Amino acid sequence: MSKKFFIKNIGTLYQVRTSLHKLTGSEFGKVPALHNAWVSVEGGRIKAWGRMDEFSGFAVGRDMEVIDADGASVLPCFVDAHTHVVYTGSREAEFVMRLQGKSYEEIARAGGGILHSAEKLRKAEENQLFEESVERVKMMIKNGTGAIEIKSGYGLSLESELKMLRVIQRIKNHFPVPVKATFLGAHAVPGEFKNNKAGYIQHLIHEMIPAVGSEKTADYIDVFCENGYFTSEETIRILEAGMRYGLKPKVHAEQLSHSGGISAGVRCGAVSVDHLEYANDEDIALLKESETIPVLLPGAQWFLGLKNPPVREMISAGLPVAISSDFNPGSCPSGNMALMMAMACTMYKLTPEEAYNACTVNSAYAMDVQNYCGSVTKEAKAHFIFLKKGYSLTSLAYYFGMPVIDKVFIADRFF
Ligand SMILES: [Zn+2]
Repeated sequence: MSKKFFIKNIGTLYQVRTSLHKLTGSEFGKVPALHNAWVSVEGGRIKAWGRMDEFSGFAVGRDMEVIDADGASVLPCFVDAHTHVVYTGSREAEFVMRLQGKSYEEIARAGGGILHSAEKLRKAEENQLFEESVERVKMMIKNGTGAIEIKSGYGLSLESELKMLRVIQRIKNHFPVPVKATFLGAHAVPGEFKNNKAGYIQHLIHEMIPAVGSEKTADYIDVFCENGYFTSEETIRILEAGMRYGLKPKVHAEQLSHSGGISAGVRCGAVSVDHLEYANDEDIALLKESETIPVLLPGAQWFLGLKNPPVREMISAGLPVAISSDFNPGSCPSGNMALMMAMACTMYKLTPEEAYNACTVNSAYAMDVQNYCGSVTKEAKAHFIFLKKGYSLTSLAYYFGMPVIDKVFIADRFF
């Protein structure tokens, strides 16, 4: 029989919604909340909620476990719609190189960066890769993340990309949180195709994408559209090849330069375009006419010391801005979404409510889990952050990097 829970005496229950849609305009700044609340859970799903003082009492029966929040606040888990959490080894040496003045592009040209991760990943046993990645996913969940998108892209060969996608599937089966997989073979051009990018693109389109498509281990296809990586035209060709195999497009766009990733993504009907530091007014107008979600990755921006994306302009234009972590070994070795919220507040001047909406409802749309993650709605997954007593949604951003999260409830257990 599926387990039932009655969570009572919740100080404030945040993100309670009766209808779901992408949050824009004035709604983007509001997080509906219920004070002195309860929630009931069955089979890992939210069944009902209300105020304690209006609780008319369905029988809290013997088959129902009672969790007393004792006045602490509870809010839906974060949705992290952009990560590269499957990798092996850290890139701490490069971190130090950057501190000594080398740029991300210089490090990449010197054989570091993505290709360095690829070299390590190709040598790694699948089990070792799985075990290392599981530890990081566990940390993410403990830090409040309740749904995760994970990309391949450190294999850059058919065999190693399939290995990464298998590991993502194993992570999906291992944890009770939704996991979506993205094929990112177009993350960089591997060493064996050096000076032959056209050859690698042929290999991607005619060998790798068909193999990934037939194994059905990926939901999305993604391309790093950037100077020195893939052009806007190449991005479109690769995305269209993936779409023929049912993979929905996403793009790493306008991170280090304006490379046309947004227009490529919008043209292909991308679910999201991510990073966006160099997005311009024209891009914002294109996004406004599309269903594509703009995903900001403040952790990577901060770690690399990049300029701000035009966030307020996007919000003013009515775009449903989302935030994710980009957890990866090179440009953001953190999957702490509360910290991403804090960065979005200080760097983009978002209010904590705007930042939280960007990390939940809107980021859920960026990985197609909006119907069951990121809000308190009927039949949504019961994935809750329990804050320490006396702390609020604002505290999550204000006490940046501090452990204001007491525990995380996922379906039927605490992490
Ligand atoms: Zn990324």
